[in-house]
Amino acid sequence: MVEAPVSPTDTVDHLFPTLAPAHIERIETYGRSRVVTAGEVLVEPGHRRPHFFVVRHGSVEILRPAPDGEVVIHVDQAGQFTGEGSLLNGRPALTRIRVREDGEVIELDRTQLLRLLQTDSEIGEVLLRAFILRRARLIAHGYGDVVVLGSRLCSGTLRVKEFLSHNGHPFQWIDLERDQGAQELLERLGIPPEDSPVLLCRGDVILRNPSNEQIADCLGFNVSVDLAAVRDVLIIGAGPAGLGAAVYAASEGLDTLVVELTAPGGQAGSSSRIENYLGFPNGISGQELTARAYGQAQKFGADIVVAKRAVKLLCERRPYAVEIDGGQRLAARTIVIASGAQYRKPNLARLDEFEGTGVYYGATFMESQLCEGEEVVIIGGGNSAGQAAVFLAQTCWHVNVLVRSSGLADTMSRYLIRRIEATPTITLRTETELVELDGGRHLERVAWRHGPSGTIERRDIRHVFVMTGALPSTGWLDGCLACDDKGFIRTGTDLSPDDLATAKWPLARTPHTLEASLPAIFAVGDVRAGSMKRVASAVGEGAAAIALVHRVLHE
Ligand SMILES: Cc1cc2nc3c(=O)[nH]c(=O)nc-3n(C[C@H](O)[C@H](O)[C@H](O)COP(=O)(O)OP(=O)(O)OC[C@H]3O[C@@H](n4cnc5c(N)ncnc54)[C@H](O)[C@@H]3O)c2cc1C
Repeated sequence: MVEAPVSPTDTVDHLFPTLAPAHIERIETYGRSRVVTAGEVLVEPGHRRPHFFVVRHGSVEILRPAPDGEVVIHVDQAGQFTGEGSLLNGRPALTRIRVREDGEVIELDRTQLLRLLQTDSEIGEVLLRAFILRRARLIAHGYGDVVVLGSRLCSGTLRVKEFLSHNGHPFQWIDLERDQGAQELLERLGIPPEDSPVLLCRGDVILRNPSNEQIADCLGFNVSVDLAAVRDVLIIGAGPAGLGAAVYAASEGLDTLVVELTAPGGQAGSSSRIENYLGFPNGISGQELTARAYGQAQKFGADIVVAKRAVKLLCERRPYAVEIDGGQRLAARTIVIASGAQYRKPNLARLDEFEGTGVYYGATFMESQLCEGEEVVIIGGGNSAGQAAVFLAQTCWHVNVLVRSSGLADTMSRYLIRRIEATPTITLRTETELVELDGGRHLERVAWRHGPSGTIERRDIRHVFVMTGALPSTGWLDGCLACDDKGFIRTGTDLSPDDLATAKWPLARTPHTLEASLPAIFAVGDVRAGSMKRVASAVGEGAAAIALVHRVLHE
């Protein structure tokens, strides 16, 4: 048996705190006391509904089974407790819990634990912090039940790694570029390179270039969620808006289900540092912010299924239903659509690689500071590109606006065109397309091609702003709701009498703010026509929609 290394940065007191006797007495009122004997296994890896234990007497050990024996992660003594993130998200256990010395434990199932966390904030704080830190430690040490075998040069490997890490699941990665042995092992197993990345899931299942849904199924990400119940509120999308709605809905006692296509976080989850979100003066990574919100929503009892796509809104029946991949229908009395938008991305090699390190999708004060005094490129001929050009020209040395068309007249407001023409530090390059991005860890060079002449020009430019518009994720609405000409959902006073007539709005009252063209269906965040396209506004709209959900549930 090997002892697990403890990182010097582990805050042991917070990871493995000892509860006061008064806390233990309070916890017992939520569960039951149980006598245990040495060698007894309380939880096995893969257990679908692991319980939570507090050691009253004796000790229990937390173990990770490994091919060369067990690794002891920790030994819980009297006053200490078991558990980590999977207790919150209802996923199968990752570790074995075995009694080391005879004694007594207090045992709570997940429902009892969630009730404790929701009602006793003093104990809840200690437990939640420990669960989150322990999950982070498992991730840092790769103590999961997954090994990813894939090349760093393969985009599938990046997708699988991102899916696991955005879902907070620990894994080990073997880079096939560096590990000849792993490459040979795959060959011996008859797995050709085109089937990679390969996932060894829970030690015994081999998945070849699996979809996100296959990974989620194999790891039991959604096992604890009841998809048959009719919910008070069904939220589509777990970006900032969906998570905001989930936290408020669940904390206010609504039976809440969230459906997320990939992993919680949305666009914000892809931001390395959000500096304009209230309360985080030093900034916070999008993943950290949304991981906290994810834990918070689950603490209040929201159910969240991941790797499931809403494919159809069934709006002609009440309660409404949403069909997800695989044909299952989820019914709910109210629906909050928070499926956001995806920035339209040009088809350019290495674009993803330079996102945040030279390629940006917004031109705010923050980005303008990064390129102060430098030459920049803006791609796009719409108003957002025009606003960005005028704004960046105030601080940048030179701004190149690249458009495919022969001019801006059809796509940009006249006042912006005039300002561009009047600004000597802006050059409009018509019929021109960006064709190359180059650099090391940061973008260093770009090339553009002038269509009619075919001339390619290479320039040492380190900043590219992609302003080619955002596409709403509304294709699945199946024509049920009124949308604007770009497909964003119209709500509240933005809905015209025609919109309401076409959608057959049935009530005497007009739609509430954030309510779409059918009663009890709300749209929040980036998916909503006229939204601010910011994290704070998305969260705020998610929260505000829940106040209206209460109202329509009482109608
Ligand atoms: C790189 C980047 C950096 C940013 N930086 C900042 C910043 O610093 N400050 C700021 O205020 N804003 C920033 N933004 C904008 C901000 O992230 C968005 O305004 C915000 O994320 C919108 O939240 P949302 O929940 O409405 O939508 P999204 O974040 O788009 O989330 C929508 C979610 O719905 C899911 N979904 C979509 N379709 C379906 C479906 N059919 N079924 C199920 N799920 C579905 C998606 O997978 C996604 O998780 C940034 C955006 C990007 C891309």
